[in-house]
Amino acid sequence: MSGAGGIQQGPVQFTPATSIKEAEVFAKNNGVKYPEFTGMGIEQANNFNLALSKVPTKAKPDFVANGAEWKKATDGIIGRKKDQWYGASSHTISLRYKNEVYLSGALEGDFQTIAINARQYKTIDSISERKKYIQNKYKEQTGNSFFLNTNGKFLPLHEMGHTYSNKKYLPKKWEELSARWHKETKIDLLKNNREAFAEGFADYLGNDGKKLPSYIKDFMDDFIE
Ligand SMILES: [Zn+2]
Repeated sequence: MSGAGGIQQGPVQFTPATSIKEAEVFAKNNGVKYPEFTGMGIEQANNFNLALSKVPTKAKPDFVANGAEWKKATDGIIGRKKDQWYGASSHTISLRYKNEVYLSGALEGDFQTIAINARQYKTIDSISERKKYIQNKYKEQTGNSFFLNTNGKFLPLHEMGHTYSNKKYLPKKWEELSARWHKETKIDLLKNNREAFAEGFADYLGNDGKKLPSYIKDFMDDFIE
């Protein structure tokens, strides 16, 4: 990982904001061109910014918002019931950013976006509780786990992991490593190699990789710049 250079070269020093506006300024100063924290509580906004402070530049999305604002800005569809998603990431070529050109038209370009379900899950704990509940139910039904991490604090890091692998494509080797990881742990989210990367990325940067086997940690050491 490289820490050298200007303000958009993560990782950076994190300072918690006391207002949503202040949190947007932090995000903007730290690599998110179009932060939209309207409708997001300060705890979620700060948790997003904390994640932002830990990740390399390629993991930083161009746009972030809660679900409702994300839909307005991207015409995106989550496609899940309101309590059945936590965060989402997407790639879009058209973005309506309220703070600049929301009604006058869309920005055209190449945008990585992240949505956080801050309407349904107002606190980090509420995400953790829901994920633990789903994890337990899944275990009862299948004998396997579903998530690697149920802690809601890792949600923004997971989504930034998707942003990172959208920009820096996962090598063929990752398919083999993540398949081995899934087989050894029986954590079913890891069956999907893109989800496995996002889970691994979040644990590596948020939890010192404590839940990662050595071969996954080694991969992250090399792959995360
Ligand atoms: Zn994911």
